[in-house]
Amino acid sequence: MSKVRTRFAPSPTGRMHVGNLRTALYAYLIAKHEGGDFMLRIEDTDQERFMDGALEIIYRTLEKTGLIHDEGPDKDGGYGPYVQSERNESGLYLKYAKQLIEQGDAYYCFCDKERLDSLKSTVSESGTEIRVYDKHCLSLSKEEVEANLAEGKPYVIRINMPTEGTTTFHDEIYGDITVNNAELDDMILIKSDGYPTYNFANVIDDHLMNITHVVRGNEYLSSAPKYNRLYEAFGWEPPVYVHCPLITDENHKKLSKRCGHSSYEDLIEQGFISEAVVNYVALLGWCPQDNQEIFSLEELVKVFDFHHMSKSPAVFDIQKLKWMNSEYMKAMEFDTFYEMALPYIQEAITKDYDLKKIAALVKTRIEVFPDIPGQIDFFETLPEYDPSMYVHKKMKTNEETSLEVLKDLLPILEKQEDYSNDALFATLKEYVSEKGYKNGYVMWPVRTAVSGKQNTPGGATEIMEVLGKEESLDRIRKGIALLEK
Ligand code: GLU
Repeated sequence: MSKVRTRFAPSPTGRMHVGNLRTALYAYLIAKHEGGDFMLRIEDTDQERFMDGALEIIYRTLEKTGLIHDEGPDKDGGYGPYVQSERNESGLYLKYAKQLIEQGDAYYCFCDKERLDSLKSTVSESGTEIRVYDKHCLSLSKEEVEANLAEGKPYVIRINMPTEGTTTFHDEIYGDITVNNAELDDMILIKSDGYPTYNFANVIDDHLMNITHVVRGNEYLSSAPKYNRLYEAFGWEPPVYVHCPLITDENHKKLSKRCGHSSYEDLIEQGFISEAVVNYVALLGWCPQDNQEIFSLEELVKVFDFHHMSKSPAVFDIQKLKWMNSEYMKAMEFDTFYEMALPYIQEAITKDYDLKKIAALVKTRIEVFPDIPGQIDFFETLPEYDPSMYVHKKMKTNEETSLEVLKDLLPILEKQEDYSNDALFATLKEYVSEKGYKNGYVMWPVRTAVSGKQNTPGGATEIMEVLGKEESLDRIRKGIALLEK
């Protein structure tokens, strides 16, 4: 069998949509699983949709996600150029289109917009309106065509689809798909601006670049029979097709910009870790054979098998991604975490606290980095809080019991020199056992006094360690004053 070669073929039109990232990932995994090559090809023949900066986004995203291509515009592997507009400069696509014209499988079309607009339209199964071209120009004589060309009349080149019979093609995920040829439009191969359409260029390039597996979104599924017609006309072997299922939002609508987290950059800006995003995206349409859900890229390369992909739509569940992200944070080396968390810690903290200690407190308690400021802002300033916060049913505390505990502890804590978590904890424990209380009966009021918050990263003594002696005592005194009111 020939070496597996896959490609990621983005159009440089904007941010990297989650669907595109998944396509890149699956193409990468299929190649790497078999020790094959993963290639990057830039599909920029739709010049109107080109966006400045989009190329940089593609390179940056592939690098950050670790989907390193073996060949591409920046890495020649002998199949270049890897940018379709550059390939077009040599007249490559036109050459193949002309070959089809010679064979009678394609033809020049000179119809103007007015005539095309006047053609009957039909509504496809998916509800979109399609205008089937009526093959008007197929009947032009060779002389008429030449005269038009000599005159410089604008033209496109269309495929000459058979009007009878059926075309069948096989997709690894969706199985055999058969369509009536009569439903297949004489699609345009070369546009009036001289560029090939995606429909044409992808077939030519996938063939010339020896691509063995074509991985792409299922929006291309309905066009695949047309591509097969092209392969047939050229006498080429079609690749293995792997069309990935639709990705939807929580409302089962196609994942779109509107949801605010449809692209890789959106997610990174929202504080997700790249590895977690890649891991999560891998599960959008592919099901591991056991219950494992956390996979590094290397592990994915080992276990990924496209035969276990699903055709039912995959729901992008941001809550699940948050969970996954928190798992990655917990597992992260502390120093790496600290470096990434620092800007978020500094957003909330200007005081001279040990920021590493704060980082250690939040590491196991956040889902995404932007959660940090909101969780730690009480270190900076004690929020105004209501005395009712001292009431805790389960801990059996109320305002009176809390006042008593805090007043008891104040002189003890004033005497205490060592404000490390361990030492503080030992002191409080000693008080607890001396009095025969339950832990929470003491810890709850202390934590409330030093944080002014119901939920905090870390317990009373961990917080006091960060605050230091002076600030901790100050807050306990404030708590006493509030309760005495
Ligand atoms: N250029 C197409 C896109 O960005 C790629 C489709 C394909 O992979 O063949 O959607």
